[in-house]
Amino acid sequence: MMKTGRLFVLSGPSGVGKGTLREHALNNAPNLTYSISCTTRKPREGETDGVEYRFISREKFTEGISRGLFLEYAHVHEDYYGTLRADVERELEVGHDVLLEIDVQGALQVREKMPGAVLIFVAPPSVEALEQRLRGRGTEAAGSLSVRLANAEKELAMKDEYDYVIVNDDLDTACEELRKIIL
Ligand code: ADP
Ligand code: 5GP
Repeated sequence: MMKTGRLFVLSGPSGVGKGTLREHALNNAPNLTYSISCTTRKPREGETDGVEYRFISREKFTEGISRGLFLEYAHVHEDYYGTLRADVERELEVGHDVLLEIDVQGALQVREKMPGAVLIFVAPPSVEALEQRLRGRGTEAAGSLSVRLANAEKELAMKDEYDYVIVNDDLDTACEELRKIIL
């Protein structure tokens, strides 16, 4: 019988470097696939439907919730985000490892439903560094930036719920830590 894959969950405040670490992990762990989430957020400049996210309407999202299509979902920074159960199950069944990049509320739902999941939290070296990165990325308007920074404190308070905490200070060191956890 084919061995089923492992499920990895990556969380951490907006701007901490999850996307950067995820890209590195996907390029360095050949059996790893990424589950593309659904969101009601509007695409940022340069984002494409079906690549970063599946961008869907609130109506479609709500319908998905009532049909039980989501392995987990949450209301984050004023929008809905969720992982489709079928996407994850299909990949695990064929033996692929699956990486989710989701918020803390979602991660705790995954742990309930799939106790074998490995939960990894990415923390910033300091709140100041986090703010600098978020500003430096240049994707958020002032309002959205302050919502993300306020939410960061709540997320950081949950890091002890996770199996691993990676402090993303030096990027190469953090990438290597994540690679080792996955392998
Ligand atoms: P997230 O996906 O968690 O919101 P990103 O991966 O988009 O975060 O990273 C936010 C910004 O911080 C990006 O501009 C990225 O290049 C930068 N960044 C990521 N990791 C580091 C690091 N270790 N040191 C300095 N800058 C970083
Ligand atoms: P962004 O809008 O910056 O792309 O993402 C905002 C937040 O939503 C991030 O913390 C990210 O981890 C979280 N997120 C993205 N996809 C999902 C998902 O499918 N489920 C949950 N619960 N959170 C998600």
